[in-house]
Amino acid sequence: TVKTRFAPSPTGYLHVGGARTALYSWLHAKSKGGQFVLRIEDTDIERSTQEAVDAILEGMKWLGLDWDEGPYYQTKRFDRYNEMVDKLLAEDKAYKCYAPKTLLDEIRAEQEANKEMARYDANHPKIVAVNEAATEDQACVIRFRNPKQGSVVFVDEIRGKIEIANEQLDDLIIRRSDGSPTYNFCVVVDDWDMGITNVVRGEDHINNTPRQINIYEALGAPIPSFAHCSMILGDDGAKLSKRHGAVSVMQYRDEGYLPNALNNYLVRLGWSHGDQEVFSEQEMIDLFKLENVSKSASAFNTEKLLWLNNHYIKTSDPEYVAGYLQWHMDQQNIDITNGPALTEVVTALAERAKTLIELATSSRYFYEEYEEFDATAAKKHLRPVAKEALVLVQSKLQATDDWSIENLHQVIEDTATELEVGMGKVGMPLRVAITGAGQSPSLDVTLALIGKERSVQRIKRAIE
Ligand code: GLU
Repeated sequence: TVKTRFAPSPTGYLHVGGARTALYSWLHAKSKGGQFVLRIEDTDIERSTQEAVDAILEGMKWLGLDWDEGPYYQTKRFDRYNEMVDKLLAEDKAYKCYAPKTLLDEIRAEQEANKEMARYDANHPKIVAVNEAATEDQACVIRFRNPKQGSVVFVDEIRGKIEIANEQLDDLIIRRSDGSPTYNFCVVVDDWDMGITNVVRGEDHINNTPRQINIYEALGAPIPSFAHCSMILGDDGAKLSKRHGAVSVMQYRDEGYLPNALNNYLVRLGWSHGDQEVFSEQEMIDLFKLENVSKSASAFNTEKLLWLNNHYIKTSDPEYVAGYLQWHMDQQNIDITNGPALTEVVTALAERAKTLIELATSSRYFYEEYEEFDATAAKKHLRPVAKEALVLVQSKLQATDDWSIENLHQVIEDTATELEVGMGKVGMPLRVAITGAGQSPSLDVTLALIGKERSVQRIKRAIE
């Protein structure tokens, strides 16, 4: 069965590039009825932090990218890596190298002077001499004996056939002199032990793949299939970075995006299925294919993300939207115990809202008194001629106990009929009176959500 993984290094938050890689890896597993593993690659102890681990887990959870296994931590697996280093040593597929850095630097300089490729050369006479003279108690690194002939060929699921001559690959250090195993080695042992069948990762790792394939072969481990995803660029064509705005997944939450909108955006950023833009989670799972992932870099487009976000705010189950809206209400200190259920607010306001922040902000008047009238709206609609309409509509509202949308609509209509004016002549002043501003959902819905007592009070305030 298919098993994929996401293997972030916890040196910072989960950024959109990583999130897209995780999503593709997750989708590949789901689409094949397989499993998805989360592995934290924390061997770089200097740069890894618990805070970053927490941020990554939080981002994955927020996006709904659930894992079947893990999180595994590489730092907890050192014994296993060392066991495998020792196995390669015993089989002479790895060896101890005592050459000091000064010597390696000297050889490299020599190679450069001769216009040769600067690389570690196990057969260099000076290295051979040092290694032969060395004694067991000296500090050494363990190097992998990379094949000298032939080439490594693999078929990348996104990029097609890739071939690298072994000449290009030097004998990689797999254990440092301090005893710690190195990154490329740990990844192989992990992917093998965890039964990973498909490695989906960023293209920045493509140069590691042939080296890793040689290690798989030396260990006698099955070689997984590889897929390297392209980079994400900003709208100006440069590599996506902080100066383009949000790059951390959680910042998208903070800016009022729904996770299903961000997932839909990310899946389309580098993958397509005809010209379809909107995919439910199930559709993504059913339709996603690594072979349809683009080889070229994709540019981030915030307008499109906003469009999708509005789409999901409008079309998702209001319960789902309300769940995420609650967080923004808390951020904006709006106490929702003072007014309508959030699902009703979502239903009333979703049409126009591009973000949940907008949704929260524009729902404030359902829960709290507004401070003052919006100046432009008041100037236009709360003129003395409006007073008659407000007085009448207020008395009618006061007199009714049927606070249903239908009846509220009727009350406004009756007021207009009685005054022999158009609906707008009643509606606009009423809107400013009850919301403080010139824009709101339809008045009957707005009145219903604000409630009788508050509505009547506010109209009084506008009349005065
Ligand atoms: N830990 C690596 C990274 O964060 C990923 C390695 C891999 O997926 O093989 O870039």
